[in-house]
Amino acid sequence: MARFNTQLVHGCPVNDNATGAVNPPIYNSSTYAFDSVDSVPRWDYARSGNPTREFLEKQIAQLEHGTRGFAFASGLAAIHAVLSIFKPGDRIVVGANVYGGTYSLFNEHFTRWGLRSDPVDTTDLDAVETAVVGDAKKGVAPAKAVYFETITNPLLQVNDVAAIAGIAHRYGALVIVDNTFVTPYLQQPLDLGADIVLHSATKYLAGHSDVIAGLAVTAGEDLGGRLYFAQNRLGGVLAPTECDSVRRGIQTLALRMDRQQENALAIARYLLAHPLVSTVHYPGLQSSDGDGHGDAAKGLRGFGGVLSFEVAKGIDPSAVLDNLHVFRLAVSLGAVESLAELPCRMTHFELPREERLRIGITDELIRLSVGIEDVDDLIEDLGQALDAARSHADGRADEALSSTAPAAEADER
Ligand SMILES: *Cc1c(COP(=O)(O)O)cnc(C)c1O
Repeated sequence: MARFNTQLVHGCPVNDNATGAVNPPIYNSSTYAFDSVDSVPRWDYARSGNPTREFLEKQIAQLEHGTRGFAFASGLAAIHAVLSIFKPGDRIVVGANVYGGTYSLFNEHFTRWGLRSDPVDTTDLDAVETAVVGDAKKGVAPAKAVYFETITNPLLQVNDVAAIAGIAHRYGALVIVDNTFVTPYLQQPLDLGADIVLHSATKYLAGHSDVIAGLAVTAGEDLGGRLYFAQNRLGGVLAPTECDSVRRGIQTLALRMDRQQENALAIARYLLAHPLVSTVHYPGLQSSDGDGHGDAAKGLRGFGGVLSFEVAKGIDPSAVLDNLHVFRLAVSLGAVESLAELPCRMTHFELPREERLRIGITDELIRLSVGIEDVDDLIEDLGQALDAARSHADGRADEALSSTAPAAEADER
């Protein structure tokens, strides 16, 4: 079998055209003719399946080492379809720090359908076990599934897929992993015991901020059949042109990710040494310090291109963000261009402030999604924005001084 980078480029054979085209055709047809009334055609109606979508679905199933792949109109549509295989009364243990839209889907949508979700810190394996077991005395049955993300957002904590899967399976719970932040290039959760892998393909897989898409991959035929039913009946499928955008993005995944990681590590080190930065969250830092932190043991081959940091007290993080010129001020991540955002006001604003602070998302926290630009331009951009924020802070201090103590200031002049 071809190695991973070769699979990215041509893992699936392009053998359904008579032209020799090296790329698969985009089939923009909603319906497919029958040979006769009695015939059983491979394709009949494009929601149920079409060749362009099937190509992408086979591509992601191969890369994630699963049996069956599914393409959806967004990451959340994929998550919705996966959660819809459960039934009222089922209980799912959910990572305490999952993507906001996922949190809302669990708590504001599925609770109405009787699906119960219990949050847990998935880096605390004892807590995971306690949550999965339930409480027989109180009539709380063992969980039906554990749902979490490979690396949490925006604090970049690494979850141990194999260890969590081991616990879940002991109690018969399924393991569902959102692998958006690391992609199959850096970790294949199904190999570590997960049952279903999810992606917002909007991010690294498509990689160019030009398409919204979701993917799911299942480990066995039974789960595959259940998820196919959900995809076909809920109907949130990805359109052929979008399927092709994701297919093309995947071909350059490894090249992009290599550069993004290299840039992210250099930026993390720069920020760590910067006097106006108080903390830097990037798992690659610990590992490059020699204290491997067990991340390799957790199955990760790299740490991706997202990092976050807190500015020192007295520095306004908005002033840093407003002064960036190469980084764009925007949510989302995983694309060729670098993005910066303020979680407490942008990606995580829906969380009540107390809850945010409890899980460590302070008002000073800035998240970066590092792109493929020259890292020196990115570092210079951050440097000048931090300088500008300091001038801004100094200006405010002077103003405060002049308004509270005008006489003193006059003396100084
Ligand atoms: C963006 C994202 C999602 C949601 O995906 P959409 O494509 O925006 O629907 C889910 N999980 C994670 C980790 C994400 O970053």
